[in-house]
Amino acid sequence: MNILLVGAGLSGAVIGRKLAEAGHNITIVDSRAHVGGNCHTERDAETGVMVHVYGPHIFHTDDEEVWDYVNSFETFQPYKNRVKTTSRDQVFSLPINLHTINQFYNRTMRPDEARAFIEQQADTSITDPQNFEEQAMRFVGADLYEAFFKGYTIKQWGVSPTELPAAILKRLPVRFNYDDNYFFHRFQGMPENGYTQMIERILDHPGITVQLETRFTREMGEPYDHVFYSGPLDGYFDYERGRLGYRTLDFERFTYEGDYQGCAVMNYGEESVPYTRITEHKHFSPWESHEGSVCYREFSRACEPDDIPYYPIRQVKEKALLADYVAMAETAPDVTFVGRLGTYRYLDMDVTIREALDTSRTFLESVETGATMPAFCVAPL
Ligand SMILES: Cc1cc2nc3c(=O)[nH]c(=O)nc-3n(C[C@H](O)[C@H](O)[C@H](O)COP(=O)(O)OP(=O)(O)OC[C@H]3O[C@@H](n4cnc5c(N)ncnc54)[C@H](O)[C@@H]3O)c2cc1C
Repeated sequence: MNILLVGAGLSGAVIGRKLAEAGHNITIVDSRAHVGGNCHTERDAETGVMVHVYGPHIFHTDDEEVWDYVNSFETFQPYKNRVKTTSRDQVFSLPINLHTINQFYNRTMRPDEARAFIEQQADTSITDPQNFEEQAMRFVGADLYEAFFKGYTIKQWGVSPTELPAAILKRLPVRFNYDDNYFFHRFQGMPENGYTQMIERILDHPGITVQLETRFTREMGEPYDHVFYSGPLDGYFDYERGRLGYRTLDFERFTYEGDYQGCAVMNYGEESVPYTRITEHKHFSPWESHEGSVCYREFSRACEPDDIPYYPIRQVKEKALLADYVAMAETAPDVTFVGRLGTYRYLDMDVTIREALDTSRTFLESVETGATMPAFCVAPL
């Protein structure tokens, strides 16, 4: 079959590869001048540092098939994400752990003592937390909430934490030991030569043709037997019902001779600092050595029509609009919506790959059995 994939990010590349291996003719278009989507990495011309162009990406997963899949295309170097935060003129370790608590309260508590102490700080008058702020106050109390959650959340989402759902903080966001590894997953690492090389290798198959700097329009899909679309769901329908809300990011690049901050990611929890974090890219490749350094200050704001959509907002208003677009998508023939933009969800890379592998299997089965391929393999609502 002749199949068109919109987007040469992880979703498009993984689906394209699987279907090409099954003998289909694959064309992939992407409006950008590079493959890799938002995972794109490139060497900084001035410093030689591998830069995560659309923000820091750390690969972490418990999914062994996905881990084996990425390792079959690229060597992964061991990498542990250890995040710091600057607040109240001090540098603390994140996620909040025993070191953070002892430093913050100037104590030397053991795990059990710290647990009891945090329980005393928690606002137990809140029995049924109605929003993010109440949930945080109930878990950790006002001091830690204000130093580590409040300002960061306001800057990241542009709304008061009282307007965000309590469910964002599902469990106690504190560790009563000195484990500062940000992710719990079994497998964690960084592609030795960047994500873009890995994705180029996934795309390197005689059955795949990639056309960059090519913006998809619906007519473009007509000659094809099927379209997989990893662009914005509302964009497919020319924003006919309005725009799904996103947050976008601005990155302010600067260079430094030497080591600017000693770690890859430094958060800034206070509202008075306009950016949310500074990323120093050379620390994502600790096996490389560079004299110069390139850093990004990261600012978050509401996404306008010409901006890159980063984080879906998915509040009540957006979900109502999403339901409209889902209904429209379900009647559109021969198109399947995939990936973070096609399904309007935040997806980590491992989840993106898992869904792409499963979508490919569903498609190949549908070809065999004559079943209709659904508009969504994972429901966006
Ligand atoms: C700031 C940030 C940090 C992240 N950090 C991590 C992390 O540390 N670990 C992790 O696992 N995940 C992380 N992620 C998630 C990761 O970026 C996604 O899992 C991944 O990018 C999803 O791939 P995708 O192919 O679905 O979408 P994308 O990468 O967005 O690819 C979609 C592609 O479609 C193209 N496109 C869109 N519309 C059109 C059109 N009309 N015509 C042609 N082309 C079009 C776009 O140019 C893009 O290249 C992060 C995400 C963000 C926003």
